[in-house]
Amino acid sequence: MENMRAFQFRGVQLDLARQMETLDFIFGFIDFIEKSGYNTLVLYLEGRIKTKSFPYPVEGEYYTPEEMKDVVSYASRKNIDVIPVVSVLSHAELFLKHNEMKHLSEIRGDAKSTLEETINHVFCPSLPETFDFIKNYLLEIAAIFTSKYLHAGCDEVWDFGCCSLCRDRVHNGESTGDIFAKYITGVYDFAKNELKKEMIVWDDLFESYPLALEKIPCDIILCCWNYDRCVDLPKAHFKSRLEEDLLAKYEKMGFRYIFAPSTYYVANIESFTDYALKRKPLGGLLTVWEKSLNFMHEVMPLVHYSGGLWSGKDISFNDAMKEIFGCEDKLFLHALRSNYEIKGTHPIRLSPLSYLAGPLTEFEAVIKSSSETLHDIFNLYLDKSRNDGARNMIEDILVSLEWKKIMFKLRAVVEELYSFGEKCPDMAKRKKITSEAAEMIDEFIKKKLDQWKRFRKGISSAKTEKRFFEFKNKILELSESSLKAAGVLRVKFFLPDMYNAQKCAFHIEFEDGSTEKVAEGIFKNYELNDAYFIYKFPYYTNKRPMAIKIESWLYGGMGIAYFEVVSPEACYVPVCVRDVKGNVQSPQHILNNDLRFCYLGETDMSALFQIPELTKRKHGVTLVLGERQEE
Ligand SMILES: [Zn+2]
Repeated sequence: MENMRAFQFRGVQLDLARQMETLDFIFGFIDFIEKSGYNTLVLYLEGRIKTKSFPYPVEGEYYTPEEMKDVVSYASRKNIDVIPVVSVLSHAELFLKHNEMKHLSEIRGDAKSTLEETINHVFCPSLPETFDFIKNYLLEIAAIFTSKYLHAGCDEVWDFGCCSLCRDRVHNGESTGDIFAKYITGVYDFAKNELKKEMIVWDDLFESYPLALEKIPCDIILCCWNYDRCVDLPKAHFKSRLEEDLLAKYEKMGFRYIFAPSTYYVANIESFTDYALKRKPLGGLLTVWEKSLNFMHEVMPLVHYSGGLWSGKDISFNDAMKEIFGCEDKLFLHALRSNYEIKGTHPIRLSPLSYLAGPLTEFEAVIKSSSETLHDIFNLYLDKSRNDGARNMIEDILVSLEWKKIMFKLRAVVEELYSFGEKCPDMAKRKKITSEAAEMIDEFIKKKLDQWKRFRKGISSAKTEKRFFEFKNKILELSESSLKAAGVLRVKFFLPDMYNAQKCAFHIEFEDGSTEKVAEGIFKNYELNDAYFIYKFPYYTNKRPMAIKIESWLYGGMGIAYFEVVSPEACYVPVCVRDVKGNVQSPQHILNNDLRFCYLGETDMSALFQIPELTKRKHGVTLVLGERQEE
C-alpha cells in the first residue's frame, strides 16, 4: 500500500434493518470503530425506528427514538458521527410490509412487480401521500440524529414505473429517469430547507438514468458502492458491468462522493481504496450487509483494517491483525488473509436447488479444500485468543467455515441421491445418508442458536431459526422426492453477469403430448466466479421426453450452453431446434456440449429500466430431443 492520506469521512455501516443488534453490542461497536480510526457510524435502518408517524412495527422489531438518541449521544462522546440510512424510495420492505402502508407501494392496484416478488419494496414516487409520509418520518428521524448528513438510500429500485400513475406520466412524455430525478430532488429540497441536512444517496440507479444525474442538484453526495474483488475501474451493476472512471466523472460534474467497499473480500477494500486515492473522495464507507444468518464478529478484523487504512496510517493487513489478535504467527496471519479472500458473497446458501448442481466446479473445489485447511488452522488458535473479543471473532470465523464444509457435504449427498443407474444408492444407504445430513444441519443450527444467545441476547432468533429449519425440511424433501423422480434435466448455463436478474422456466414435452414444468427461477452460480454452471432439475413424469421448451424474461438475458435429460433408462440430448420466439441468439449452439451458448432475452439492462414492460416479454426456444447413442 502506498503512503496513505487520511480521508475526511471515515465510515462503517451496521445493517440493523435485516437483523437487529443489542444496544450493548452497538455501544461496544462504537468503542471498537473509534479505536480503529473511524469518525462515522452509518446505521442502515430502512424503517427500523418506530415513531408517531410510523407506529406499526410490533414488539421486538424496532428501536425507539430514545434508544437511538442514546446511541447518538454515546457515539458523540467518542467523536463518532451517526448517520441514519432511511429508505425514501426503494428497499422500503420494513415500511411496506405493514398493511397500513401498502397503499404507498408502487405495486398496488393492477401493477405487477417486475421482479415478480410478493414483497413490496418500492414506494410510489408519484403519490403525494408517499411524499407526505416521508416528510413526516424524516422530521422525526432528523430530531434523533444530530449529524449534518442524511442518507436516503435509493439503490436497486427494481419496481419502478409500474403503477398506473407512474405509467401515465411516462405516456405523457416523462421518462422513468425524470420521475426518479424529480422525486430525489423533492426529498433533497425538504432535507436541505426544512431539516438542514445534506443528502447522501447510493449511485447505482444513475447507471440506467445518466440524464437524471444532470437534473439533480450537485450538492447531493453520491455513495459509490462496488463489491468486486478487484476494482481497477468501478464496474456498473445493472448495466452489463460497464467499466468507467466513475469517480472522475462525478468530480467533473461537481458532485462530492464517497466510495463504498464491503467486507466480502479484503482485496475489494484494498483495490477500491487504491483507486479512490487517485481521485478526491470525501471518504470511504465500509458497508457491512445482512447478518441475519451470521454475526458481526467474523468481519470485525476487516472493519479494523479499513479504519486504519483510511485514517492515514501506513498499515498493512498483517499489522491490523496483530493489533486485534496480538498474535504474530505467520500461519495465523496468512490464514486470516486467505479467509477474507475466499469468503465470497453468499456464505450461507439456503436454496436447496443449488445443492443439485452436479460435480464441484474448479473454483468450488478450491474453496472446499481451502475451507477445510483454514478450519483446522483456526481451531489451533481458538484457545490462544488474548481476550473474549478476539475469541468471538475466531469462533465466528470457524462457524462460517463449518457451514462451508456442510454445504459441500450436502452437495455430495444430494448428488448421490439423484444419481441413476449403477451408482444409485439402495434404500438402506439412502436412509443413512439422509439422516446423517439432517443430523449435520441440526447440529449446526444448535451451534448458531448458542451463538445467538450470547451475541444477540434478548433479540428474537425466531426468523433465523425458521429459515434454517425450512432449509433442513427442503433438503429432506429433496431427498424424499429423489425416489419418485423419473430423471433430471441437467442444464449448463452461461451467465458472466451475476447482477442479472433473469428468470428461466424449463418445460419437458412427453411422447403423449403432456408437459411438465420442471423449474422456474433466477439461476446463478452462487460462488460468482464461473460464467458456466450447472443445475439439475428433477422431473416426475415416467414417459419418454420428446422436447424441451425454455422460456426466459426479466433483467438482462441468460445463456444456455447445453442440456440433457438423464433417466435410469436413457440419456436424451437436443438434436434440432424446433422454434424460437423473441430475442434468441444462436439457438443451434445448444446442440453441442461445448462452450458456445444460445442467448435468450433483452441484454440492454438500461432499456429494461427505462421501459419496465420489456421485462415481461418472454423469449423462448424449443428443442427436439433424441436418445444419445453410445459410441
Ligand atoms: Zn407509481
